[in-house]
Amino acid sequence: MEPFNAKPIPGDTSAVQCGQLQSPILDALGRPLRDLRISVTDRCNFRCTYCMPKQVFGSGFQFIRHQDMLSFEEIARLASIFTSLGIAKVRLTGGEPLLRRHIERLVGYLADIKCPDGSGLDLALTTNGSVLRQKAKALFDAGLKRITVSLDALDNDTYMKMNDVGFPVSIVLDAIEYALAVGFSPVKVNAVIRKGYNEGQILPLVAHFKGTPVILRFIEYMDAGTRSGWHTDQIVPSARIIETIQSKYPIEPLEANYPGETAERWRHTDGGGEIGVISSITQPFCSACSRIRLSTDGKIYPCLFSTTGFDLRQLIRSGQPDDTIRQAVVDYWHSRADRYSELRLKKEYQQDGQRIEMHYIGG
Ligand code: SF4
Repeated sequence: MEPFNAKPIPGDTSAVQCGQLQSPILDALGRPLRDLRISVTDRCNFRCTYCMPKQVFGSGFQFIRHQDMLSFEEIARLASIFTSLGIAKVRLTGGEPLLRRHIERLVGYLADIKCPDGSGLDLALTTNGSVLRQKAKALFDAGLKRITVSLDALDNDTYMKMNDVGFPVSIVLDAIEYALAVGFSPVKVNAVIRKGYNEGQILPLVAHFKGTPVILRFIEYMDAGTRSGWHTDQIVPSARIIETIQSKYPIEPLEANYPGETAERWRHTDGGGEIGVISSITQPFCSACSRIRLSTDGKIYPCLFSTTGFDLRQLIRSGQPDDTIRQAVVDYWHSRADRYSELRLKKEYQQDGQRIEMHYIGG
């Protein structure tokens, strides 16, 4: 297949690096379009209680039909259009993205996308790690250089309680080791902390990854989707997580890598590595949010907590040219004013409509 070359919006773009447009595309709150998250499947082999509780996502649940999913070629074409609009980073998510067959082929297409100065996209992927051991080498060889693994506990019983399918933690820990050996860097591990479930796993996780290249991040439990029975009294605030860590391990804050980085960075003062907290509840980061999401069936959503999206698949499948699709994305981003995390706890705030599910749009 021909490599995809991103042709930015007219004007002198010869030396444009990915994500470095002279005039970035800004939304209604002045935030630039920078990050694209692509959900390549709504299916998952886990039933994490805060995302796809078993009682809802049982055997009868209707997942997206394959013919309704974007093909790899359609995804790559859209990613190329987004790159021409200033996207610098693409993250593949799901459901569980590694369940999508031949996913490494898509990684290859995305790694082929070049900006006028020859630079490429910053490609990343988030996985539950269940089949990472089998896929790591092919993904790396296809052009993926960094990976994030969701791991909510070190204790096997707690881990199996969280994924609710009895999947053993040892397989994922082994896959993380292997990903490091293959050459992924960084390898990040994300743990969602839910009170009454796994707050006792904070220190064991820190102990396990201390002194390794793995960057461990703790995520405040969010009300993504509508199925988890989320309640504020199940949140462990990041400040408490940091306190818990500091009670045993001296850590100090680090500068952000770039504006709008979602994780607040810390490091062990003895050089034992980096830890992060992602505080969508207690320290919302909407003011610098530069993320747009593409669903498995080709809709774009301006926010993880959106209730409506815009269908790009129908534009593609009705034969619209790139310029028409590009203009539709620009118009959509211009009208974006989402800041759900800043509003969610405000008494007077009422969200219209039903939020999209996390397994459908990815974290
Ligand atoms: S709540 Fe929405 S707007 Fe705010 S940071 Fe998350 S995705 Fe961005």
